[in-house]
Amino acid sequence: MADDKRLTTREADFSAWYNEVIQRAELADYSPVRGCMVIRPYGYGIWELMQRALDDMFKATGHQNAYFPLFIPQSFITREAKHVEGFAKEMAIVTHTRLKAGANGELEPDPDSKLDEPLIVRPTSETIIYAMFAKWVQSYRDLPLLINQWANVVRWEMRTRLFLRTTEFLWQEGHTAHATENEAEEEALKMLGVYREFMDNWMAMPPLLGRKSDSERFPGAVRTYACEALMQDNRALQAGTSHMLGQNFARQFDLKFQTETGGEDYAHNTSWGVSTRLIGGLIMTHSDDDGLILPPRLAPIQVVIVPIYRKDEERALVVEKANAVAGALRNNGMRVHVDVRDHLKPGPKFYEWERKGVPVRIEIGPRDVAQGQLTVVLRTAPGDMPRKEVLGEDAALTMIPQRLDALQKQLLATAVARREANSQRGVQDYAALRERVEDAGGFIYAGWCGSADCEQKVKEDTKATIRVLPFEEFRSAEQPKLCAVCGGNATSEAVWARAY
Ligand SMILES: [Zn+2]
Repeated sequence: MADDKRLTTREADFSAWYNEVIQRAELADYSPVRGCMVIRPYGYGIWELMQRALDDMFKATGHQNAYFPLFIPQSFITREAKHVEGFAKEMAIVTHTRLKAGANGELEPDPDSKLDEPLIVRPTSETIIYAMFAKWVQSYRDLPLLINQWANVVRWEMRTRLFLRTTEFLWQEGHTAHATENEAEEEALKMLGVYREFMDNWMAMPPLLGRKSDSERFPGAVRTYACEALMQDNRALQAGTSHMLGQNFARQFDLKFQTETGGEDYAHNTSWGVSTRLIGGLIMTHSDDDGLILPPRLAPIQVVIVPIYRKDEERALVVEKANAVAGALRNNGMRVHVDVRDHLKPGPKFYEWERKGVPVRIEIGPRDVAQGQLTVVLRTAPGDMPRKEVLGEDAALTMIPQRLDALQKQLLATAVARREANSQRGVQDYAALRERVEDAGGFIYAGWCGSADCEQKVKEDTKATIRVLPFEEFRSAEQPKLCAVCGGNATSEAVWARAY
């Protein structure tokens, strides 16, 4: 069976391995439209769990969900100069509203249906949302306005990869308006903190936090903050961003309010987003050469039960026990699946669930039923725990939630250790910086003078970019004094890496 073929290993070809993990776990598939993807039910199940967790956190911090249109008038996008510059080359444009049969019978856009003003399929929604905010905000009493939208967006990408970079993707975009810059700054940092908590405690994908350099900033933002995670191939993934937009958009969309002292001022905005790209990050953080590994909190199935029987008369007995065990685990809040497919033997079932990253598998055969025991197998063994154990039924039911919890924590600890082991601090000069990028990769900490020329030189020579100027807690104990590129005085420490 072709399906039993082993995956390409990470070491042999990381990129091929990544695609195979996705295909074999049935997370997503290529679509008939180049650059787009189909998210299959198992992959969408992960996204739903991510959405639920994030949505709860957004609401707990005072945000409400709303929905804005897919189409944006072209003039809206062109109003903010940097914004249009940043997105102009990747926008999908609607120019006509219907088709008609041409001379040779083929359908073509009906010239009579040409729109007076083309519509842009949203690459992001700052413009249309702040245009609406301008209608809703009159006074300081209407602020802060804290809105989130779950939506799809389109950015016409030439080189695409499943989950990481697709022409259409799913995301959330938070948009807020505040009376003062300080409040907007606080909000942008708070939401970056929410992302960090989610990435740490749900994804077990510990991000490095910091500010983007000017050249890597969101088009139209005053400051962009980011969560950067390190993948197993030592490339960085920008996993979430939060922008302090200042009054740039408010001025263009006339988002004004009456201040407490009776004057008038433009509002200060923030926007922040994470996308289905997070699923790509999850895969590249944890999975191994046997396939997907999922942190239990984001596993659509946390426990799979495989009944094992040879004869028909054994089937009823084991399936009954499997359902009873599933019921007990579900009552304890776990997501459980009983695999009763008769056309498959246990071996291929085990293999399939391992490939799909289900954290715990329970095997139940006739002898287990007779002896009141369960065989419990973990997808990965946390710490010094055994990978496979035969336990009394009661002991197993008590132990499984503890194992899921331990596995979640262990995945985070492993990812933190890997990130630190692959971070090089105190890189002094350009030769060392270049060598490290080209040999090992990972996060490279070095001094930077703040000049775009130095940044550009590294990018041209090595394809590495400044991922962030790290926040204090991530900075090296000894701060660099000189720029590793030009040898001039350093204005900050920068973290360099090749990125997705
Ligand atoms: Zn420099």
